[in-house]
Amino acid sequence: MTAIRYQERLYPVAPGESVLDALLAAGVEAAHSCKAGSYGVCMMRVTSGMVPERASAGLKDSWRQQGYFLPCVCVPDSDLTIARAGGDAAYGASIDAVERLSPDVVRVRLVCDTVLESRPGQYVSLGREGKLARSYSIASISDASISEGREFEIHVRRVAGGQMSGWLHDGVQPGDRVEITGPYGDCFYVPGRPEQPLLLAGTGTGLAPLYGILRDALRQGHAGPIHLFHGAKTEDGLYLVNELRHIARTHSNFEYLPVVLDQDGPIENVLLGRLPRLSGWRAFVCGGPAAVQVLRKKIFLAGAASRDIYADAFLRR
Ligand SMILES: Cc1cc2nc3c(=O)[nH]c(=O)nc-3n(C[C@H](O)[C@H](O)[C@H](O)COP(=O)(O)OP(=O)(O)OC[C@H]3O[C@@H](n4cnc5c(N)ncnc54)[C@H](O)[C@@H]3O)c2cc1C
Repeated sequence: MTAIRYQERLYPVAPGESVLDALLAAGVEAAHSCKAGSYGVCMMRVTSGMVPERASAGLKDSWRQQGYFLPCVCVPDSDLTIARAGGDAAYGASIDAVERLSPDVVRVRLVCDTVLESRPGQYVSLGREGKLARSYSIASISDASISEGREFEIHVRRVAGGQMSGWLHDGVQPGDRVEITGPYGDCFYVPGRPEQPLLLAGTGTGLAPLYGILRDALRQGHAGPIHLFHGAKTEDGLYLVNELRHIARTHSNFEYLPVVLDQDGPIENVLLGRLPRLSGWRAFVCGGPAAVQVLRKKIFLAGAASRDIYADAFLRR
């Protein structure tokens, strides 16, 4: 007999019984659907212990790395501590610095009160005075030796009349306090296939997570080719151009392709013109919802497997 710890209580699991069935038998209201590992509705996260291989087979690498598994097909052979899939942590943080990157984009550096266990490419919800909260992608690598894992940066585009982006562009002062919840999302680099070609594509501040993922992949020794396509309507909307060109000069496996949409046409056309076949590639796609939707579809049709396509659309509230 094994046991699972869930929400501070212990539940016995009979031999051959799944985690989901054990929870349901004990009267826990656990979300579920097919009970056969097909829909993922019941997905949970293991915080201590090992789930059998079958319980996470078919999930994206980045989900598996965060401990996600399907309790309906998880018959544990040792004790586990598990949590709801979306369990959030909340932190206080201070604004450290704000730097203009383009006429419309600022880089905001923040310092959390405690270590933010996140991966570049994930996003956090940033709250102000308990009233206003918006999502922003993490653009920095959490290098514990530099920052003790408490500092991170976001890139914020000014939205006309926008409450949060307006404040972060015009009103914020170093030392101002914000609330952070998260991190969320599965759009981040997972090591393990260092030769796999990587495609990073996005528009506007979709560059923020891509920039984080790029530096994370390089730091972790990714050796396969990495292509970054960054699109902006006009040339002055492209940012971090010099930094990205510098990375391209110092890493022979990295190619940076800025795309001025008004001149060059849609980013997906430029991308597929250069890389028409994407079978075996891992792709990260971020930015405005329309561009993300089209890119995702075209990348899939060009041969990338859907489990190798990671996307974050910056949806409006
Ligand atoms: C997962 C995720 C990650 C995100 N990451 C980033 C990021 O890294 N950088 C970043 O700059 N933004 C990002 N966003 C968008 C961000 O969360 C806010 O929506 C954006 O900053 C606008 O908030 P606001 O308070 O300034 O505007 P609001 O006060 O909410 O809106 C003002 C007006 O602008 C409209 N509006 C709101 N959002 C947009 C938009 N994106 N485009 C056009 N009009 C809009 C609203 O409908 C409203 O009319 C992300 C969103 C999601 C869901």
